Amino acid sequence: MADRAKFQAIKGVRDILPPESALWNRVEQAAREVFGTFGFAEIRLPIFEVTELFARSVGADTDIVKKEMFTFDLHASQDLEVRRDVMIGRRTSGPYDIQDTELQTVHEAEIQVGVFIQIIDNAIREDRVARTSENVRALDGLQTLYKQFSAICESYRSSFPSEDPKWNTEMQTLFEGIASYASKLNFGSLVSLRPEATASVVRAYIEHGMQVQPGNVKLYYMGPMFRRERPQKGRYRQFYQIGAEVLGSSDAPGIDAEVIEMLLAFFERLKLKGAILNINSIGDKNCRPAYVERLRAELQVVREQLGADSQRRIETNPLRVLDSKLESEQAIIEKLPRIAENLCAECRAHYDEVKRQLGLRGITYQENWRLVRGLDYYMRTTFEIIAPGLGSQNAVCGGGRYDGLVELLGGPATTKGIGFAIGTDRLVLSLQESGAGEVASGLDVYLAWFGAVTQPAAVKLARRLRDAGFVVELPAVEMKFGKSLGLADRLKARHAVILGEDELAAGVVAVKRLSDGTQQKLSEPDLFSYLRAARNS
Ligand code: AMP
Repeated sequence: MADRAKFQAIKGVRDILPPESALWNRVEQAAREVFGTFGFAEIRLPIFEVTELFARSVGADTDIVKKEMFTFDLHASQDLEVRRDVMIGRRTSGPYDIQDTELQTVHEAEIQVGVFIQIIDNAIREDRVARTSENVRALDGLQTLYKQFSAICESYRSSFPSEDPKWNTEMQTLFEGIASYASKLNFGSLVSLRPEATASVVRAYIEHGMQVQPGNVKLYYMGPMFRRERPQKGRYRQFYQIGAEVLGSSDAPGIDAEVIEMLLAFFERLKLKGAILNINSIGDKNCRPAYVERLRAELQVVREQLGADSQRRIETNPLRVLDSKLESEQAIIEKLPRIAENLCAECRAHYDEVKRQLGLRGITYQENWRLVRGLDYYMRTTFEIIAPGLGSQNAVCGGGRYDGLVELLGGPATTKGIGFAIGTDRLVLSLQESGAGEVASGLDVYLAWFGAVTQPAAVKLARRLRDAGFVVELPAVEMKFGKSLGLADRLKARHAVILGEDELAAGVVAVKRLSDGTQQKLSEPDLFSYLRAARNS
């Protein structure tokens, strides 16, 4: 027998099947409704963006950017970069070096430059390299210099002119010009699957000039994110987030508190029990650098007692040491200086007011001085929600303020931001674990028809029921009575509606409630009222 290939979803990604997908829909629907009441509107974002966007916003020194992004070359233009670098002598492995004025080499370089220009011209024409004004200008420049280059080569075709100082300087200048234009070509096509969406929201905010909108811009999103992490329960390589962001000129603590209130209202709507809100303030660019230096100095003292990861982070990102879950480091970390005692007056006042605003909303929280969040762009308020039933991956939501991010990505310096991202996979898991994840079967009616003459009436009745919003299963072929009713049971239908030849003749149907087997005959209008009442009961 021929081998039949078996395909499986790759490690770290998974299918979400019915009936679990119904719970996902409920979660997403609740988010839309609750966020909508707080004045948030949905933004739908691309799944991939230029890599640089994430490197710049998430931080070049984070695990996400350093090792977890799925990155690819959008235009497959790496070969062009190699070719360019070889041509201008940036890479030495190539066959040509146009700095060398040996006649033979010069002729080869002439060909090389000509071919390169042709390739770039084609690539721009075929949209493999972006037709930006920068690229078009560089190509024009290259073409002009190439003409001069060819003309000089032509005039010296037969003789070896390297003794002629004019040739040397002329050639030198031309080569430099060519190298300079070639360097200006931007193949810039490395893109990454989004590891998170805040960077994209901010990019879109700037790109569409949303700062001119009245009041704060309040956006939510939902969809898949991608990180090359080690898969385990609650941690996937394709996972889902529901997030929201507030962008605008104000950094009022009331905004922070309202965002958190919205988040908790959403969890309440889902009947998620036992969620714990942790908050912290990590200062801003005025006070954090000094704290980080103090922390670094203290960490140097205890360096030898720390694990390899934390030792590395003393240099790269000392705040992240506070994230450590390593048992042996806990007692040491407890003795480190705390950011709360090192905030500047403005940050302290902001944090105090956030707490007061949470209080007036009746929100209870725990302060967690070690909550620093992994991403570079956070400042001042950070928060996290821990949910039960998730084991070690128990953070179901993370968020915080990121006032400098809009400016960092080229937007107005006056725009502030705050937001959060909920891990939908973990939220669903926690709902399931706590028993709040039950989704009742949605099948209202299994419409069993018997006798070929009843089928047209059954088809039409099914349609009228569906038009009225009932969920109906209609067997495509006639089945034996016992088998048909057995299937209705197994599909967890609430009712079997039975249409036989007798019922058809009498203008009624038999309705059987499958939970207790009670049965009655009803006319069509009565059937509709009966089903409606059953639905609301
Ligand atoms: P972050 O963007 O890292 O702050 O993540 C926000 C939330 O997304 C976390 O609290 C998790 O609930 C969820 N999350 C992050 N990474 C993963 C992952 N690899 N798999 C599942 N959920 C994740």
